[in-house]
Amino acid sequence: MKELEKLGGSMKRTEFWIKTSKSEQSEAEEPSRNARLLTKAGYVDRQMAGVYAYLPIGFRVLEKIKAIVREEMNAVGGSELIMSSLQPRDLWESTGRWDDEVVDVWFKSQLKDESPVGLAWSHEEPILETIGRQASSYRDLPISVYQFQTKLRNELRAKSGVLRGREFIMKDMYSMHASEQDLADYYERVKQAYVKIYERLGLGNDTFITFASGGAFTKFSHEFQTLCDAGEDWLYLDRAKNIAVNEEVLDEAVKEFNLDKSKLEKVKSAEVGNIFNFGDEKAKDMQVEFIDEAGNKKPLYLGSYGIGITRVMGVLAEKFSDDQGLVWPAAVAPFSVYLIGIGEAGEHAAAELYTKFVQAGIEILWDDRDAKLARVGEKLADSELLGISYRVVVSDKTLEQGKVEFKPRTGEAELLTSGEVLARLSAD
Ligand code: ATP
Ligand code: MG
Repeated sequence: MKELEKLGGSMKRTEFWIKTSKSEQSEAEEPSRNARLLTKAGYVDRQMAGVYAYLPIGFRVLEKIKAIVREEMNAVGGSELIMSSLQPRDLWESTGRWDDEVVDVWFKSQLKDESPVGLAWSHEEPILETIGRQASSYRDLPISVYQFQTKLRNELRAKSGVLRGREFIMKDMYSMHASEQDLADYYERVKQAYVKIYERLGLGNDTFITFASGGAFTKFSHEFQTLCDAGEDWLYLDRAKNIAVNEEVLDEAVKEFNLDKSKLEKVKSAEVGNIFNFGDEKAKDMQVEFIDEAGNKKPLYLGSYGIGITRVMGVLAEKFSDDQGLVWPAAVAPFSVYLIGIGEAGEHAAAELYTKFVQAGIEILWDDRDAKLARVGEKLADSELLGISYRVVVSDKTLEQGKVEFKPRTGEAELLTSGEVLARLSAD
């Protein structure tokens, strides 16, 4: 089993579909830089404004991001599930959110029998209806469940590429509790899990826990905002006090935290996640109750925790790239090595290296296309464009010295033995 898993992590270019292009779309064709870059490198394809397909290599990056998020959600006791995309109207009417004036991003339709149905833009109500209603006693609580799901939103503007999709992947977790205190404690745990996630994604230094407009019970909710010029939010930072505030609640926060408005630094950012305390308001509206220790019926307490998985990918593309292309942080790079053999002896040696690296558990993409399909220059350019962490080139010249050329994506090339390369990669 183990060997098979390892093999699945590595691919030969002739057996793995990637189509890169030499030229980039114009700004008129695609206004967003992340989308232009991701399209050129073959990660995404624009189906229509705000709607992107994630092609095989893009899918791998999404899976890497999801794996990190999944690990941290499991670590705080989340159970993974998947809810439906079709949602009944009645449910949303119970909290007043079927109304387009309350929620303006609905896609609505009806079934053949004419029952009204909405396409999932959120799962707060369905989760409470499903899992909350299953929890009939305080003994069942707390519960925490999460999913990775495609959300459908009729966003008015969709000019930010994968940062704002009309269809996008969100991780959404929901926690249900018997008391306000239990929810408050859990909320803090999730906040810390989020800090870890953004650190692991390579965004730790530029991501701020930000005060945003309030939860149902709390004066503020918390957003995770990453500094990013292509983002759509404005943050105000008090670096000395380590406080970040979303523009939308600036005056309230200035008062609350005694900030000096004139000294705040205004920066552009993208909301990569948020956490929200609903208190018992939603369960009250929906009459989702449990029996408490004293035998009384009570509405349960709900917390909601989102991460924009596809938006994170876009933010990474915006922040980590250069003239040659993408530069993925190692934790989310689709492969860790791009392998190229040059000349007959080089190609032969590359085949051997491929097997050796695969056995060592390194995720490697071997550009095994023959000279008729791709010239060496194109292979080298693809390696940079795709943003894979390391490039290994083996040719007659390197073989003369019993070595291969090893180059980190943004570093200098060195001649190393294959054993030295393995040691470097394993240390990573
Ligand atoms: P925004 O203010 O950006 O519209 P939101 O307040 O609607 O976000 P939520 O509904 O709470 O956000 O969604 C949780 C997370 O999903 C957000 O923090 C964000 O990272 C991501 N997200 C929200 N809308 C989109 C979208 N249209 N495309 C991609 N990701 C999104
Ligand atoms: Mg929104």
